[in-house]
Amino acid sequence: MSGRQRRRVLAGIALAISLFMFGFGALARDSQAKVQGVSQSDPARVLAPLPPPRPSRLAPQADSTANGNLLEQRVPAVPSTCIRAFEESGGFVLPSQNGASTGECAIEDPVTFQRLTMPDGSRIELDSAITVRCSLALEVLAWIRDDLAALARQENARLAKLTGVGGYACRSRYADTGAPISEHASGNALDVGGLLMQDGRAVAFAGQEPLSRSMRDAVQKSVCQRFATVLGPGADSSHKDHLHLDMRQRSRGFRICQWTVE
Ligand SMILES: [Zn+2]
Repeated sequence: MSGRQRRRVLAGIALAISLFMFGFGALARDSQAKVQGVSQSDPARVLAPLPPPRPSRLAPQADSTANGNLLEQRVPAVPSTCIRAFEESGGFVLPSQNGASTGECAIEDPVTFQRLTMPDGSRIELDSAITVRCSLALEVLAWIRDDLAALARQENARLAKLTGVGGYACRSRYADTGAPISEHASGNALDVGGLLMQDGRAVAFAGQEPLSRSMRDAVQKSVCQRFATVLGPGADSSHKDHLHLDMRQRSRGFRICQWTVE
């Protein structure tokens, strides 16, 4: 091969390499444009870096302490429709105290609470936290809000607290081992001994103070309209000092109202 022929061959190889490199570069730019979803006719947008993709669901922000340590996120269990309604109505739900019970002593949809917020922003408390099934908690909340708070206002008082309360208890009726299981064992009953007003006045359901007689009469009317079972003073020896209220379902909607107001 002459020197002239060798130069032609080398020039041809150089041309082939140049054409190959140009084609590869165009192909690479075309791929990048397709990935970024923009037109190749807009080179400025092709070259601009895109932000990272936005996550479809933002992760919750972790709390951080002053020294920068991250606190572990608490993932709450999804509350039932009833518990959401209870909270939206002013109930303040505490961590469950009796959620693991089974068999005859199981509670359906349990809710533990001690404090309620009234529509006017005032708070009414129980003298201890109780656990009951959510359907009863809703009824108790409505009873306190719509009946008891209104009855207190009629007495020129503001209701502050329910005293002597009891809720869930895995036991037989009257704490008698031979008796049928109590409604307390399924979280379907509330015991309450009396009321305390913000000014310190107390209304004992089993008392005989003349000042609270009209209040006791009014409370008797409200509980016997609202609850399926009312047992109080005069019903039996187990209820001489408090009211037992429950939502026990009986055939044909039969209800019991046994409370002799004195
Ligand atoms: Zn009871």
